[in-house]
Amino acid sequence: MSIELQVNVTVQWRDPVHYDAEHSLPCRVCKTPTHMRDNTDLACHPRCAGDELAREIFRFGQRLADERFRSSVARRAALAQTAAPTAPRVADERFDGGLQPGQVSAGVAR
Ligand SMILES: [Zn+2]
Repeated sequence: MSIELQVNVTVQWRDPVHYDAEHSLPCRVCKTPTHMRDNTDLACHPRCAGDELAREIFRFGQRLADERFRSSVARRAALAQTAAPTAPRVADERFDGGLQPGQVSAGVAR
């Protein structure tokens, strides 16, 4: 099983509360100056806020995928237990055309 997870977040800060025309402060993420403010009024570029959110969503997605992968592996293991190989059986001309009478075969019953 293979999972590819891509997260892209674009933050739209069109509201004027996100722009401080008078003060350029270091972005809380990348430390370069910006006039933009996040929802907690800290200096932050929209791109930095979007990338930060994308990383959080990505980590959540990885955990979810890992849980689902582990549960599917556990489910397959449980199924394999119930479909355990049958006891060795002796070939019978009526059922095992590929085996010679008296030849022993072990495997999963089909
Ligand atoms: Zn930044």
